[in-house]
Amino acid sequence: MGGLRSAEALRAGGFRGSITMLGAEPHLPYDRPPLTKQLLAGAWDEARIQLASAASLDERGIRLELGVPATSFDAATRTVVLEDGRSWHADAVVLATGAEPRWLPGTEGAAGVHVVRTIAQSIALRDALDALGGSGRVVVIGGGFIGSEVGSTAAAKGLAVTILEALEVPLGPVVGDLVGGWITELHRASGIEVRTGVSVAHVHARGPGALPAVQLASGERIEADVIVIGIGVQPATAWLADSGLSIDDGVVTDEALFAADSVAAVGDLARFRWHHAVGTDDVRIEHWEVTAQLASHAAASLLAGRRSASAVSLVPYFWSDQHGRKIQMLGRPAASDETLHVAGSVEEAKFVVVYHRGGRVTGVLGVASPRQVMLCRPHVESGAPIADAASLFA
Ligand SMILES: Cc1cc2nc3c(=O)[nH]c(=O)nc-3n(C[C@H](O)[C@H](O)[C@H](O)COP(=O)(O)OP(=O)(O)OC[C@H]3O[C@@H](n4cnc5c(N)ncnc54)[C@H](O)[C@@H]3O)c2cc1C
Repeated sequence: MGGLRSAEALRAGGFRGSITMLGAEPHLPYDRPPLTKQLLAGAWDEARIQLASAASLDERGIRLELGVPATSFDAATRTVVLEDGRSWHADAVVLATGAEPRWLPGTEGAAGVHVVRTIAQSIALRDALDALGGSGRVVVIGGGFIGSEVGSTAAAKGLAVTILEALEVPLGPVVGDLVGGWITELHRASGIEVRTGVSVAHVHARGPGALPAVQLASGERIEADVIVIGIGVQPATAWLADSGLSIDDGVVTDEALFAADSVAAVGDLARFRWHHAVGTDDVRIEHWEVTAQLASHAAASLLAGRRSASAVSLVPYFWSDQHGRKIQMLGRPAASDETLHVAGSVEEAKFVVVYHRGGRVTGVLGVASPRQVMLCRPHVESGAPIADAASLFA
């Protein structure tokens, strides 16, 4: 998505030279959020999540080289080498290889054990869930957004779902303990068993006549028809090891998204310098909307040149769909920020919480409350006094 949006923005910004997109997957660029939602549910097919047709890319002179991963890059000469030995030199390069899901030791490729990052993985999980015919047990390891969405979609298929989470409060570091606790209650109200503070010692693959199983550190063994691992991702930087770029949990960029002269990084891969209302941080943000914004900014930076490029300015936004409710968040509050509950309740499965630090607004999260969340946008953007945001709901 970051690669495609960068190419499109370069064209929209007037770039007339040749553009080639190199991609490891055989598919045209596609949208990932539906992989745990509509595509996994079976409500949408593959065609619906395609982000651009071959014809429309061709019309804009964006050439595709798909199905072969890049294996190395030299930032000084801007040369990319592919696995099949071909190499590409360019005047400018956008790095947008995203992130890869983490597996637990020994689980990669194990029968009955899944992760969801690609279209192929989503379809494999959908087929495994649908093969259960509406009755069966799914264990999800990890209660983050991916695990929560998979759990919600599997529960809607009538399956018995257990989410195993190492933290005492799922999502606590991202949304705070109050909201993390409330989202956990939404799962439980929808029939999902959520077990917190549990540590997984081992995952057993499906064997002949044996279901896959999770072995907890306590010794307890939990069998399931399907096991899904959702314990987070790591930026896809292995191919950049000898690139000469600074790699530190992502490709490190400056405030204009340059990782080196004429080399920009965007999306889940990029750790960029971000000036915001209450400070400056080097951040890597795994959100769809942020990726789109970084891509258009990177294109503008490359077109302007490093000396004239401006700092990226954005208000982070993400959404998640669980149990028929939309969860939306603006800003990037720290886990230690204070929370102010301004509207709704967990009983109604509809509420709004505003985050603040030193009396200034750092974020807002709403469940089934899109209008109220967007109302707070200027307050999050400017780091307004918390009293001003609270007065919107008085
Ligand atoms: C299942 C799922 C659900 C999500 N839901 C939401 C949501 O509800 N809301 C939200 O805000 N965000 C959501 N996201 C996050 C959002 O989709 C990502 O932030 C976004 O896809 C990042 O785009 P990207 O281009 O940086 O990376 P990606 O979309 O991961 O694209 C990177 C591409 O690079 C390719 N690649 C990797 N290594 C190489 C290599 N060496 N050579 C060539 N190609 C390579 C990959 O195959 C991939 O096609 C979700 C993500 C996932 C996986």
